[in-house]
Amino acid sequence: EIILIVGSGAREHAIAEALARSSPQPKLICFGSARNPGIARLCSSYAVGSMSIAAPIAAFAKEHGATLAIIGPEAPLAVGTADALWAAGIPTVGPTQSLARIESSKAFTRELLAKYGIPGNPFFQRFDAAEFLADEGDLTAVLRQWDGQHVIKDDGLAGGKGVKVCGDHLHSLEESLAFCRELAALGHPFVVEEKLEGEEFSLISFCDGRTLAHMPAVQDHKRAFEGDKGPNTGGMGTYSDADHSLPFLRADDITAARKINEQVAAALAAECGAPYQGILYGGFMATRDGVRLIEYNARFGDPECLNLLTLLESDFVAICRAIARQGLADVTVEFSQLASVCKYVVPEGYPEAPRKGDQVRLPEQIPGSAQLYLGAVDEVDGILVGTGSRTVAVVATAETLAAAELVAEQVIATIPGPFFHRADIGTKALIQRRI
Ligand code: ATP
Repeated sequence: EIILIVGSGAREHAIAEALARSSPQPKLICFGSARNPGIARLCSSYAVGSMSIAAPIAAFAKEHGATLAIIGPEAPLAVGTADALWAAGIPTVGPTQSLARIESSKAFTRELLAKYGIPGNPFFQRFDAAEFLADEGDLTAVLRQWDGQHVIKDDGLAGGKGVKVCGDHLHSLEESLAFCRELAALGHPFVVEEKLEGEEFSLISFCDGRTLAHMPAVQDHKRAFEGDKGPNTGGMGTYSDADHSLPFLRADDITAARKINEQVAAALAAECGAPYQGILYGGFMATRDGVRLIEYNARFGDPECLNLLTLLESDFVAICRAIARQGLADVTVEFSQLASVCKYVVPEGYPEAPRKGDQVRLPEQIPGSAQLYLGAVDEVDGILVGTGSRTVAVVATAETLAAAELVAEQVIATIPGPFFHRADIGTKALIQRRI
């Protein structure tokens, strides 16, 4: 087997490590936006190029005789890289462009849930840019109705910058209107939806279009600083518990989230006339009224992927192969019954003005219960240097969250430099109890 990995962050490093654990070991090749030395060490060929143009990725895969591909980030999915790889005869883990709308269009997802009667949607309304510019009356009425209780979302991918939440970023009707005008002026449609209150969690499933295999629930922490303060980031760290649930969830919350993922996969097959073959990531909020949907992603989350693939006990190559040939029902998918804590080490100044070019010194030895994954790291003359984003992720597993958290901290203490991390992730201070 020759497997192409698309992408070059810590998520793809975890994907590469999981594939390399398989026996017989597959040959790995990578097409990423940068050269990640952690991934490069595991690959026989490595190309660097844009994540937003499908053809060169498919050409590279073909040239190197890839027999299977897995796509990590959202950008290549949104531009149809899976379509191009399938057209080149390469079975692929990652949905086609049409199916990836579950992530690339917020309105598509809300409308899909509504059309197929799937529970979990908050109130929402889509606004077309031209119609809104001609008449703002409808929007004003909706904003009045949901005064202080709404979220405005750019319909398309905006790298986490297209969402503004009342109370966090929007403080008056005027500010909300101004943001809508900004989006409409760019010609972007947008969605106004009800603001949900509760605890967020991710429930990610392997999906072959017919069968789903659910992974343990994970909670991410997006804010840069302790106590969930500071600017939003790509994610500073994540934890999952030994029972594959989270301390603030009830058994019926997990069942509800799994059921929503299953119903969404079926609705996608009906709507798009093709099976969703990839990773289906449901971003949920556990509210007083049960589980509601925040968003879908068409790929693994980063950092969630790092916890999940560290915990995966089954053969990842067999799972990927099964997703691509719709045989997921015939393979075992098991995760170890351990808690996991992942913490990112990031440069000082991250995310707004991160330092770049500092040497990254990794410990020579780490405990067997810990793993390191490289993110924004380059190798210059045999030395690892940070390139100004999330640098190294440490994942630790143990019987309890407290024990895993301790190991993660011990490992991080051995990584010197002008870096910081969030000491509170995985600790009692942050782990919410049942709501
Ligand atoms: P990301 O790139 O972080 O995945 P995104 O641009 O895809 O973000 P969403 O995930 O839909 O956008 O929203 C970003 C964040 O805004 C969510 O993680 C959540 O904290 C908040 N949010 C989104 N929708 C709602 C909602 N309806 N109620 C409350 N908070 C929300």
